[in-house]
Amino acid sequence: MEKLSTNCILCESISTKLIETINTRAIASLYRKRANADVTRFFFSPEINLMNCENCGLKFYTPQAAGDGEFYNKLQNYKGYYLKEKAEFQEASKYISNTDDVLEIGCGEGLLTNYISYKTYTGLEFSDKAIITATGKGLKVTNESIEVHAIKNANKYDVVCYFQVL
Ligand SMILES: [Zn+2]
Repeated sequence: MEKLSTNCILCESISTKLIETINTRAIASLYRKRANADVTRFFFSPEINLMNCENCGLKFYTPQAAGDGEFYNKLQNYKGYYLKEKAEFQEASKYISNTDDVLEIGCGEGLLTNYISYKTYTGLEFSDKAIITATGKGLKVTNESIEVHAIKNANKYDVVCYFQVL
């Protein structure tokens, strides 16, 4: 029997509640139909749980499943995949100014930069296609995980943000 009491991945509170248990085969089937993408390699259990943190309100999946470059390349074929964050970018822009060194995790094509003022911008992204587009616009975007990047860049940024990543 799997343990359902899971700490919040954002605030680490133990006050989390199970909302829903989802069969990973059903998820894989939807991705196959809608995006022609095989996501089975990202799941290591037959089910994942959607949890709600009663402390900070974050809803998150556990265990976590992260995609890779090939997966995000495929999703990009969807018109609008990277555009849907527009409202979030506008909200985030209120908190970022032209004196800030900004890091964005999972930055896609770096569209956030259209909405913010910043001193420096660095993006991390796994999709090679998105990196080519972003660097073509003169943005500094690299194929690196946050785990690796953080080791080399401790205390470097004023703002670290991510959208639709957790
Ligand atoms: Zn929380």
